[in-house]
Amino acid sequence: MHEKILSQAEKLEGLMIDTLTRLCKIPAISPHNGGTGEDAKIAELEKIIHELGLDEKAKIKIEYVDDEKALNKKRPSLFLEYPGKKSRRLCILTHVDIVPEGDRNFWTLDPFQPEVRGSRLYGRGVSDNGTGLVSSLFALKALLNAGVEPEYTVNLAFVADEEMGSR
Ligand SMILES: [Zn+2]
Repeated sequence: MHEKILSQAEKLEGLMIDTLTRLCKIPAISPHNGGTGEDAKIAELEKIIHELGLDEKAKIKIEYVDDEKALNKKRPSLFLEYPGKKSRRLCILTHVDIVPEGDRNFWTLDPFQPEVRGSRLYGRGVSDNGTGLVSSLFALKALLNAGVEPEYTVNLAFVADEEMGSR
């Protein structure tokens, strides 16, 4: 079974890179750090979850926390719950916000137009926390593609406001 899941994960490699690139093109910088927040990125993530077919069985919920400085005076976090054989939960939390790109002179590319160079993807937010976010999503997708019903209920949390205080 282990092999089967891994081979499904390998088949998803291209789509994982595309998904990470797509998400990192949306700068989800905190309104407390000069940005516009997570709204656009959460909306794109919801679209991706739908395209992956994960919302057929999963419950998707967007929760908001008030924030005076935010566009709509609130910050969104997305929660996905995929039913497992047991009600016991496996929870994976990642954050969608990123830190600003800093001085562009230190970049050799547009930080919001990620590029694959060699075997790595470069761009702002790719590592913190994009890789973790996309990994959690595609770990679930690989399980399902392998025909495995998760043993535990899977809860994926994609949250706002990690970089500036986690209110
Ligand atoms: Zn972080």
